[in-house]
Amino acid sequence: MAETYPIEFAFPDLDRWEHGGSAPWVHLRDSGVPGPTAMVNALTHGNEASGAVVVDALLARDLKPRKGTLILSFANVAAYRTFDIAQPFKSRMIEEDLNRVWRRLDDPASPRTVEFRRALELRPFVERADLLLDLHSMHDECVPLMLCGPLEKGVDFARRIGTPFDIVRDKGHPSGRRMRDHGGFGDPESPKNALLIETGQHWRASSVAVAKDTTFRFLVESGVVEAVDLPPDWRQPSPPAQRVVHVTDTVTTSTGMFRFARPWRGQDTIPTAGSLLGHDGERAFHTPYDDCVLVMPAHHRVRPGVTAVRLGRVAG
Ligand SMILES: [Zn+2]
Repeated sequence: MAETYPIEFAFPDLDRWEHGGSAPWVHLRDSGVPGPTAMVNALTHGNEASGAVVVDALLARDLKPRKGTLILSFANVAAYRTFDIAQPFKSRMIEEDLNRVWRRLDDPASPRTVEFRRALELRPFVERADLLLDLHSMHDECVPLMLCGPLEKGVDFARRIGTPFDIVRDKGHPSGRRMRDHGGFGDPESPKNALLIETGQHWRASSVAVAKDTTFRFLVESGVVEAVDLPPDWRQPSPPAQRVVHVTDTVTTSTGMFRFARPWRGQDTIPTAGSLLGHDGERAFHTPYDDCVLVMPAHHRVRPGVTAVRLGRVAG
């Protein structure tokens, strides 16, 4: 499959944010007034630039919290800097996926990759945050998705944000823990809460609009700023409703090339249980129930052991 995608917006120059913060590309602003710590993070994956546009814009307007603390960060600028238009997907990471290392940060045997070392640098900020919004985008064309994690508190938070239409309730990936599941975010007893927004295809202008809208809503909901502190044109109309898609199954490819029976798009629904989903090598996979939602099917080649598609059931 040819992989040419238009790049519909300019990537910001992030060099100016490397220094002057609390860590490279991490800017913490404490209002001195009691309140929560809200963190907006971009570039966990180096080629997911829509979030970088938003965090760059917030830093450029010198946004300060009215109460509590605001943390604005770019996670993997090392990968972002390797962006090459001839191989645009390659800059997702340098050595490993930064969003799979969070369970093994205390493991002395863990390889000291670029991403692992960066996660150790980010860790005190992620652990300080009461509320986290992690800005991502997707390889394939897909409607925006709010990934709220496995817990009820994540669903509640996604509903308070009020967009997009699709809330995906999920446990993450067998290959490693995500930032959004780290520490108190993954503890049902903790008041901390985190959301991961997939804004759309990486380089669509619409993904920037979704990143702006979601960040606007997140920051206002957190209470650290007020709506008047943010660009009014970032806020988009709310969808008439939201639905929760509960991820029940993860299909992992052992060959690195899962072949789908049809060119389904993300959030397509297969009506009948037992329908052929596709093949991983010789092994056939079928849908386990009626009205099975395909969450982020990967039609491109991925590494063996990586998620090919997740299956979800509409929970209401
Ligand atoms: Zn991502």
